[in-house]
Amino acid sequence: SLQIRGLTKNFGDAQVLHGIDLDVPAGSTTCIIGPSGSGKSTVLRCVNRLEESSGGTILLDGADVSQLNDDVLRRRVGMVFQHFNLFPHRTVIDNITLPLRRVRRISKDAARQIALARLDEVGLAEKADVRPSSLSGGQKQRVAIARALSMSPEVMLFDEATSALDPELVKGVLALMKGLAEAGMTMVVVTHEMGFAREAADNVVFMDRGVVVESGSPEDIFDRPRTQRLRTFLEQVL
Ligand code: ATP
Ligand code: MG
Repeated sequence: SLQIRGLTKNFGDAQVLHGIDLDVPAGSTTCIIGPSGSGKSTVLRCVNRLEESSGGTILLDGADVSQLNDDVLRRRVGMVFQHFNLFPHRTVIDNITLPLRRVRRISKDAARQIALARLDEVGLAEKADVRPSSLSGGQKQRVAIARALSMSPEVMLFDEATSALDPELVKGVLALMKGLAEAGMTMVVVTHEMGFAREAADNVVFMDRGVVVESGSPEDIFDRPRTQRLRTFLEQVL
């Protein structure tokens, strides 16, 4: 589970998170929605410490993430970005085995087995030995997901994982993510895909200007918005 309490973040004089509370029970999926600049990415980046929090606490299965060493954090928190961040000069399988071996310190053969199993799960076992440049955007993103999963993380963070994809490739990646959610992965998904949030999320959080304005079930958020800010946002995106 992931528990965030009173998370604040300042960049210089600008405060961009004003005390975020978020609970993601083990095995559940939370989608974060909200306008550009509202702080969605910053929340995820504080969870995996790409940004240092300014205040508040982030607990991962009860452990304060600020106390975890880098490798433990990399292993326990998987992250998938809009731009896939694959190493271009390495094969697909090396993209998965290299971080796996470095972070989990396992043998080459064991890493290869894990990587092949994960590639198979995302439907790309036959692409193990090609370079990322020969893959479509959707395939690259599935490799990035396989790479994150190979660590056996306790929570997966997705930051607009489908925003950079051509429209025809979005569906496949969303279906993969929905499958993960249904299989019981604990996930936090920042997305502009309202259909995905409605179908795959257990909880939806609406952020605006660094605060959580509303949170609830998909029905609460999409069918019974309580604030004008959320109603206005939904009118713009739906
Ligand atoms: P988008 O939907 O466009 O991705 P977002 O909700 O993810 O937006 P963030 O990227 O979290 O928003 O940004 C929140 C605020 O923090 C914005 O005002 C942004 O300009 C500011 N910000 C983010 N990163 C930095 C940084 N490294 N330095 C200064 N300000 C930053
Ligand atoms: Mg963002």
